[in-house]
Amino acid sequence: MNAIILFGAPGSGKGTQAKMLKERLRIPHVSSGDMLRERIRAGAANGDVEATMHSGALVADNLVNRLVEERLSRADAAGGFILDGYPRTVAQAEHLCRWFGLRGIEEVVIHLAVDYNIVIARLSGRRQCPLCGTLYNVVSQPPKAPGICDLDGHALVIRDDDREEVIRERLDAYQRQTRPVLEYFRSVGRPVREVEAGKVPPEEVFHEICRALELDDRTQNRR
Ligand code: ADP
Repeated sequence: MNAIILFGAPGSGKGTQAKMLKERLRIPHVSSGDMLRERIRAGAANGDVEATMHSGALVADNLVNRLVEERLSRADAAGGFILDGYPRTVAQAEHLCRWFGLRGIEEVVIHLAVDYNIVIARLSGRRQCPLCGTLYNVVSQPPKAPGICDLDGHALVIRDDDREEVIRERLDAYQRQTRPVLEYFRSVGRPVREVEAGKVPPEEVFHEICRALELDDRTQNRR
């Protein structure tokens, strides 16, 4: 089974790479951020969750743990999955490792390592289609027509949590709460693969990920 944890700072390209891996491996992409936004859209989250996300801080471990567990328990995740944005605290990582341990699931952590300045440039240039969710970047991945989604022609927006003061808070939360997760995985002997993710285009990074996972990045899965 392919249990892949994509790990990295906001703006390291986890979402982009997760989508490419999903296409390649045909396993679900489980993004805790997308699940939380979906709950807010559906009116299922309380106001605290929304306010916390808008500030750039992390939402409570027990809520995210429960959402992810429920998602990973669904039948379509039985053959593997790609985790994006989770675990983001050591407490979440401990919870997940226990959960995996009980089910005999072995994961690989892919660390998308990116220089701080690149992360800032990426996040502040990020634009999203509010309709289909596709992400663009005014510098590195611009849409064909400025400000317009290539896929559905809708006007692109700056996500609330991509505003400058929120970006700073998100990076701060990453340094304080999320980076230690990497040390946690190493300390319990889980495989952590380093991938240089500052490269462009994203296909270059994808190639490195496939190498780290010992996958042929064009044809069949060799594992
Ligand atoms: P990014 O990785 O670009 O910061 P995400 O979509 O992964 O964006 O997350 C957006 C927000 O959702 C985070 O800033 C945080 O408030 C919340 N969030 C997502 N995943 C988690 C998690 N595992 N634990 C706590 N909060 C989370």
